[in-house]
Amino acid sequence: MTDLSSLPLRESLRGQSPYGAPQLDVPYMLNTNENTHPVPPQVAEAITARVATVAGGLNRYPDREFTALRERLAVYLGHGITPDQVWAGNGSNEVLQQILQAFAGPGRTLLSFLPSYSMYPLLAAGTDTAFVDGGRAPDHTLSADHAAEQVRRHRPHVVFLASPNNPTGTALGLETIEAVYAAQARNEAEGGHGAMVVVDEAYAEFALEGTASALTLLPGRERLIVTRTMSKAFALAGARLGYLAADPAVTDALRLVRLPYHLSAITQATAIAALEHVDALLETVEDIKAQRDRIVDTLRRLGLSPSVSDSNFVFFGRLRDAHAVWEALLTRGVLVRDVGIPEHLRVTAGTQDETTAFLDALGEVLREDP
Ligand code: PMP
Repeated sequence: MTDLSSLPLRESLRGQSPYGAPQLDVPYMLNTNENTHPVPPQVAEAITARVATVAGGLNRYPDREFTALRERLAVYLGHGITPDQVWAGNGSNEVLQQILQAFAGPGRTLLSFLPSYSMYPLLAAGTDTAFVDGGRAPDHTLSADHAAEQVRRHRPHVVFLASPNNPTGTALGLETIEAVYAAQARNEAEGGHGAMVVVDEAYAEFALEGTASALTLLPGRERLIVTRTMSKAFALAGARLGYLAADPAVTDALRLVRLPYHLSAITQATAIAALEHVDALLETVEDIKAQRDRIVDTLRRLGLSPSVSDSNFVFFGRLRDAHAVWEALLTRGVLVRDVGIPEHLRVTAGTQDETTAFLDALGEVLREDP
């Protein structure tokens, strides 16, 4: 028998743990920020019908340029975005990985601001990119001045900004993105190199009123990339479709690193059918936002400190022993996320019933051991 430590593993992967959100079969799975509403039956039927039309042609490779899908994604995004500005992959995780393969890698640096999405350091390790944590304020917010100063100090090749951030749920002000972009431009003007600035908007559709998308900043900023996904608001996490909008030169660059035919004909057909039913798919978004706001209000009343959430999840603190609360919730059939930040947990806003189950269970747990 051999084990991991005896394999000639790359140095950058030694001691790393794989992405590992628990997949447990419990009544209330509120730990990975999916849309917990099933795909509406009419959309499931439309997907099945479209997949049936391509099934007989699966002997051939799919459209390598996923042209029809890009056209539909451009229409969905709006903001005057054209199909040559759109790129897609098997989940936004793959899109983020392709960005690092093209613009980072050995000898180069990715800057992000932790706590943030747990895949960022893993994607850096997998591409042999040095990862630098620029840090956040004690309340986990990220100011324009601090973010820009970190870009000036570390001179990264790529910057990942999650907006809204995971696990905290709060969106960035556009001034922070503008400041980061301007800082990388200054680095380059001084004779160094600039950076690709990636705004990960996986949860954009759940934004609070008044929160603007970084898509509005794309014109004139050829180093800016905005990534999105169909895994969250679209309730299609199982289909694996993530995408981005950027300057056409960026999508050209990504062609250099993508595997040939990386988006299967089945994935393309599924995503196209979904985009033909955007209204039906996004119907649950308002309800999820209402449940999210209900969680925030209730947690405040329980004396906890939920963060402002522009997403479909809530990050909350002031728990004496967060892991004990996580376990007590699990014994009541409610799985939330312990992201390893003391006194804090994160919960996905699900259906009304799921939200009630979570809030009742948490109330009980806190009464027993406040
Ligand atoms: N970015 C963020 C901030 C996320 O939370 C997630 C999913 N948890 C992703 C990207 C990746 O999602 P997917 O690969 O399903 O598109």
